[in-house]
Amino acid sequence: MEQINEKSNYCLNCKTKPCSMKGCPLGNYIPQFIEQIKQGNYQKAYEVLSETTVLQGICGRICPHQKQCQGSCVRGIKGESVSIGELEAFVFDYMIEERDSLLNCYAQEIKKHENNKKVAVIGGGPAGLTASAFLARRGVKVTIYEKYSYLGGLLVHGIPEFRLPKEIVEKTISKILQLGIEVKYKQQLGKDIFIKDLERQYDAIFLSIGANQSIKMGIEGEKLDGVLGGNELLEYKLHPNYKGKTVAIVGGGNVAMDCARTIKRLGAKEVKVIYRRAREQMPAEDKEVEEAMQEGIKFLFQNNIVKILGKTKVEKIELIKTQLVQKESEARLVPVNIEGSNYSIEVDNVVMALGSEVEPYVKELGLKISRWGNIEINDKYQTSNPKIYAGGDLAGIKSTVAWAAHSGREAARNISEKINTN
Ligand code: SF4
Repeated sequence: MEQINEKSNYCLNCKTKPCSMKGCPLGNYIPQFIEQIKQGNYQKAYEVLSETTVLQGICGRICPHQKQCQGSCVRGIKGESVSIGELEAFVFDYMIEERDSLLNCYAQEIKKHENNKKVAVIGGGPAGLTASAFLARRGVKVTIYEKYSYLGGLLVHGIPEFRLPKEIVEKTISKILQLGIEVKYKQQLGKDIFIKDLERQYDAIFLSIGANQSIKMGIEGEKLDGVLGGNELLEYKLHPNYKGKTVAIVGGGNVAMDCARTIKRLGAKEVKVIYRRAREQMPAEDKEVEEAMQEGIKFLFQNNIVKILGKTKVEKIELIKTQLVQKESEARLVPVNIEGSNYSIEVDNVVMALGSEVEPYVKELGLKISRWGNIEINDKYQTSNPKIYAGGDLAGIKSTVAWAAHSGREAARNISEKINTN
């Protein structure tokens, strides 16, 4: 507790609130909740946070804080920024035992807006859970349709336990469901439930089924045995036996880091991350990269994979070195292959962790698809069907939990206005 007091007292309570206004995707009232911690009023701190988020314990742990709130903190200009993530997680953990804490925060509003409107939320990941909570707060009857027998989506199967304990996800979900949300499990869109039926039953639909298929590079050898998709590995956990094996991970984001660290823990002899830009350009959070390095994972920066070699299964990969150049049309440095710098290394598995795309059946839903292959939405998160809204990765929202939650919250606000919950 002493440490928490020290950390909260370090906050300057800046008038301009850059941590909140510039840094936080959810616009959390950061100095305000920290002020409450300073006064030892942890319940009030939780209430302040719950104004804008229902994922306090999760975002407090896994957000890329240095790129978001803490990266904009005034204290960080000359030294260490305020430990905003740690303080947010502390507030949630403190309130974890208060069974109805979130319900108590929203109870008056639920009563005030009481109505007979019904919304179906398809997919119970961060966007769907947040949308459900903020719709319920407006008195809407929410039903979540979830394809698995559990809620949480990538919070459960996409983020390893060492980064986000399952207990925190479970407690978060339980607080959200206490708002009176109904859940129907093992319901897959296009198989068990259909848009046409849901349209008849509900006043609006919010789609948040993610984009869970790993992107392929289209290089030679990608179909060989031993080439794995990063997203599928984390989601279905169909890991081969890595004992004594060398595994190459292609990509520089958090999925690449999670795969590398998980595979190392599963006994791989060597794990090498191949990234075509430099460390400073990696989308993964610095802390994740640092920890991966400490765990013995090797990084081949400014290296690009050219082909995968082997008869029926992966035996080697051919790499080429890159140099980074500034092109007028591009905001960030572009990696360009250095001709003649090709070399190959022996590996047993290749994990493609370059990003993800929507599953093929999404294109059959009858909704307009954007040129990036996601469901197209307008600035109100509305799809080409005015009764259907979408958020999270499915709608091409920046793939972080906080941005997914932001899309769920804002979609809920727009849905409430459209269906007139007063
Ligand atoms: Fe506190 Fe940093 Fe936000 Fe200023 S910018 S209010 S010091 S957390």
